[in-house]
Amino acid sequence: MQCLRCRSDDTRVIDTRMGGDGFSIKRRRVCNRCGFRFSTMETPVREEIIVEKRDGRIEEFDRQKIAASLRAALKKGDHQRERVEALVDSVVTQLLDSGRKRLASAEIGTVVLDVLKNFDELAYLRYLTVYQSFANLEDLKNQILKNEIKT
Ligand SMILES: [Zn+2]
Repeated sequence: MQCLRCRSDDTRVIDTRMGGDGFSIKRRRVCNRCGFRFSTMETPVREEIIVEKRDGRIEEFDRQKIAASLRAALKKGDHQRERVEALVDSVVTQLLDSGRKRLASAEIGTVVLDVLKNFDELAYLRYLTVYQSFANLEDLKNQILKNEIKT
């Protein structure tokens, strides 16, 4: 790591601590040449998952979207936020464990359903209803679009 002031490569770590999120590491460094002190932050790189939507469009996996759909399915309660986060974590873990970088949105929906089923049967049924009607709506939209192009 180069010194921010004199660009010397000769710097050393004087303090290492865990970042507030529990994943990143903050290091305090000092330059052996000019004595300048600075901090660096080390964060693990998240592997990106690409989502293939039903209509063929591609987008980056969005944790927030999963969280929003789970919030809609779960009953409002004191611990809803923590519950949603924990569920999203298990979904993301399963997706990363699959080792695949590109997943269809329907496959992700199946993983969400799996996770929910083990957690709360009512929430699972609610999610299924919302998810299926959404899927049907997209199908319907696609059918209409296709027909419009044909005629
Ligand atoms: Zn320096």
